[in-house]
Amino acid sequence: MTDDRRHVGVGGANTALLRWVGAARCVQMPPAVVWVETRGTHGDLLHQTVAVGMAELRIVLDEADQELSAFVWKELERYLGCGDPQNGFAWLVCERCDGHRLVPFSCKGRAFCPCCCGRRMAERAARWCETHFAEVPHRQWVLTVAWPRRRLLAWRPELARGVLDLALREVFAWLVAQAEEQHGVADARTGAVTVEQRFGSSLALNLHFHCLLPDGVWARDEAGVLRFHRVRPTPEALETLVRRIAEASERWLVGQGVDDEEAPDDAQAVLFAASVANQVAAGQRAGQPVRRYRAVPPRFEEVSRSGDGVLCEGYGLHAGTWVPASDRVGLEQLARYLLRPPLAKARLEGRPDGQVVLHLRKPWRDGTAAFLFTPLELTEKLAALVVRPRVHTTHFHGVYAAHAAWRAELVPRRVPDAGRDGKTTLLRRPAPLKGRKRSAWCPWSELLERVFGTGGFVCPHCAGQMTLRTVVVGPPATTRILAGLANSSRGPPSVARIA
Ligand SMILES: [Zn+2]
Ligand SMILES: [Zn+2]
Repeated sequence: MTDDRRHVGVGGANTALLRWVGAARCVQMPPAVVWVETRGTHGDLLHQTVAVGMAELRIVLDEADQELSAFVWKELERYLGCGDPQNGFAWLVCERCDGHRLVPFSCKGRAFCPCCCGRRMAERAARWCETHFAEVPHRQWVLTVAWPRRRLLAWRPELARGVLDLALREVFAWLVAQAEEQHGVADARTGAVTVEQRFGSSLALNLHFHCLLPDGVWARDEAGVLRFHRVRPTPEALETLVRRIAEASERWLVGQGVDDEEAPDDAQAVLFAASVANQVAAGQRAGQPVRRYRAVPPRFEEVSRSGDGVLCEGYGLHAGTWVPASDRVGLEQLARYLLRPPLAKARLEGRPDGQVVLHLRKPWRDGTAAFLFTPLELTEKLAALVVRPRVHTTHFHGVYAAHAAWRAELVPRRVPDAGRDGKTTLLRRPAPLKGRKRSAWCPWSELLERVFGTGGFVCPHCAGQMTLRTVVVGPPATTRILAGLANSSRGPPSVARIA
């Protein structure tokens, strides 16, 4: 059962989760009831816009005799098939009322699919809180790199990793030195979990790093027990750190012989350059800025300095957000913020002329509240966010690294305990048998339970537990089954909401 569920591939962002539960096509087949779900992305505004934009992008690139890498097309094409029952589905059956539910596959895209990125966000945040983060206060450190370097680092992931390593080395060294000075401890260590975010709120390419660090260091006491010592960064310390990071990074990048102007022969590099500058790369408006709505007056009074952030030579460091040791829910929310998808579907609005408006969550200081895209413009922005295969965008350092010597002593250990209805939930999953590695995969029902407090494999008709009957992969099998359901003589298809 567990192994079969691995292929179910159901996923979604928070809004998509609700939609998944709430919107489905209901086909009455007395005495059985069959729900054919079109989940999350399929057929919605973003899906339609990307479908149009992709066709236009192909034409524009053909005319310009440019080529976009195959992995970018693959990500876009897979996104178009995400949530489409024609591509395959899991067939769930309710043992109590004989209800059937066809749950379509997701694309498992990691660049922008709101559904799949949302699922990954929920899953990873939950897992990190359970197995990675020690029960101490944690602080978010955000590192932004100099504007001219962003395209280069986005194009060459090994350079981005190098800059991150340098920055964390400086931060760790400062924390250890402070601990020695304030608490008199020697041989102290700390760690970090980092997510590379490649996007800004306008969908422009903006490579920056969100690092979650314990707000201090660990050191052994006389008895050999690891003790945590809190070290909080001061504004002066941040200024020193950002200057050191900027100098070390620039020195290292120059030593690597990099050239900001180096122009790889690839259309994605052209999209990168335009996206970093918040400009349009293709179509009639090529070279012009992305159109924006200034709905609110600018807020000049806040321009001077923001929160606990400091800048030096284009590099920025912000460390104003932290959560106490007791607030594990807050820590998981913060981890979700780090891992969030670039685009929330709720912020997109369609216009009668086929263009889409992307509303910002909070208006910018200059009054910008939204951006306007044609389908081609939106698609090129999304294409610039696609990461090369086998490139990691999350990194673990110090005591949080995979084989760190102290990690086993620091990670939280939860007592196995039966959950509601005798089932185990994510928080109370039993420890793996000795010598057997537990899979990182987390059942969808447990994610739903964690995010919304609702059951994933619950029958929409009688609230009974559903089980996986089979997995149907791709046409012609899917087409045959779906056509059979639609043409069933036992009852006409009808559309209904499942509450
Ligand atoms: Zn997807
Ligand atoms: Zn049922």
